[in-house]
Amino acid sequence: MTRTSTTPATGEIPHTDSTPGVYDVIVVGGGAAGLSGALTLARARRSVLVVDAGRPRNAPAAHMHGYLSRDGENPAALLAAGRGEVTAYGGRITQGTVEAATPLPDGGFEVRLEDGRDLRARQLLVTTGLVDELPAVPGVAERWGKDVLHCPYCHGWEVRDQAVGILATSPMALHQAQMWRQWTDDVTLFLHGSPAPDATTRAALDARGVRVVDALVEALDVQDDALHGVRLVSGEVVPCAALVVAPRFTARSAVLESLGIETAEQVVDGTVVGTYVPSDPMGATTLPGVRVAGNVTNIMAQVVAAAPGGVPAAAAPHRAPIAHAVRRAVVPGALDGPQAATAKG
Ligand SMILES: Cc1cc2nc3c(=O)[nH]c(=O)nc-3n(C[C@H](O)[C@H](O)[C@H](O)COP(=O)(O)OP(=O)(O)OC[C@H]3O[C@@H](n4cnc5c(N)ncnc54)[C@H](O)[C@@H]3O)c2cc1C
Repeated sequence: MTRTSTTPATGEIPHTDSTPGVYDVIVVGGGAAGLSGALTLARARRSVLVVDAGRPRNAPAAHMHGYLSRDGENPAALLAAGRGEVTAYGGRITQGTVEAATPLPDGGFEVRLEDGRDLRARQLLVTTGLVDELPAVPGVAERWGKDVLHCPYCHGWEVRDQAVGILATSPMALHQAQMWRQWTDDVTLFLHGSPAPDATTRAALDARGVRVVDALVEALDVQDDALHGVRLVSGEVVPCAALVVAPRFTARSAVLESLGIETAEQVVDGTVVGTYVPSDPMGATTLPGVRVAGNVTNIMAQVVAAAPGGVPAAAAPHRAPIAHAVRRAVVPGALDGPQAATAKG
């Protein structure tokens, strides 16, 4: 594939001392975490480019809940507002998917896009989110984010007092059954081949009126674009207004892995629930110059938590240019090239 070098023209990025053609920071992923980081960088007068594939995790949901001041807003509206704020401060945003990134021999990184563009930056902020790997039951993927749900804090209120099913595909299902029972007294746990709960757990489920159906689920019964029930292999349909599943949360880590940055297993109550990319509180990874924020490093973060994650991860790369500027002031011409990126870590 022919690669073209896309460079910001000198003068188009007014508030930076970067080498022409090299962004201070490329943000990979323009969800809440990435845009928040980009806003911080743009306001810090850094040249920043957001490369975004445009598939935020909560796109299937019509409403975003639990975000103070924006509860119930369409998730796309939040991101549209964020993009407007980033560009208003001179940040740039481009639609695209990053395939891989490579450290450059003299510092900084080259970022390769699927469409053939090659871009360069001193530092990277990777906010690519995670993939919800859903159980392979017909209808689950189609209804995901509508009436197939996971997080009660995001969507529990909307189905309060209604019939809620729990599809047991991991040991977390027993916890989910008791948790969703807080929102409704009509909870059915579908074991779907999972081991039956032990006597103590069963007694706790019985005590709170949680029904247990020891049968395989064949498919979801959907009528008029709404979940109507859960169809068992016997053909019986158990009425449900919502079905709760436990996806595996897999960090969308391909770009980071192309840089040699590894993922770790996320364990909750002794169960592996997914993967994440370890980082320190400022988003630093094992590779200097590459930071992370949002769901790629914190699978539990709702939008209101993912967004501020981008701020320290953006503030940290901003500190390094201060040292760079001081060095250049003391020794004019020092560290002018891409090698400055290495020095800036
Ligand atoms: C169905 C559903 C409903 C939800 N509802 C709520 C809710 O009501 N309230 C709430 O607080 N939270 C909710 N969440 C959680 C919410 O989606 C996350 O907290 C939030 O999306 C995390 O933001 P992020 O920026 O880390 O990742 P994302 O929002 O997923 O953004 C990542 C971005 O990176 C892009 N990207 C990925 N790889 C690349 C690449 N290689 N190159 C370029 N771009 C790339 C993606 O396309 C995407 O645009 C919900 C989640 C789901 C699944």
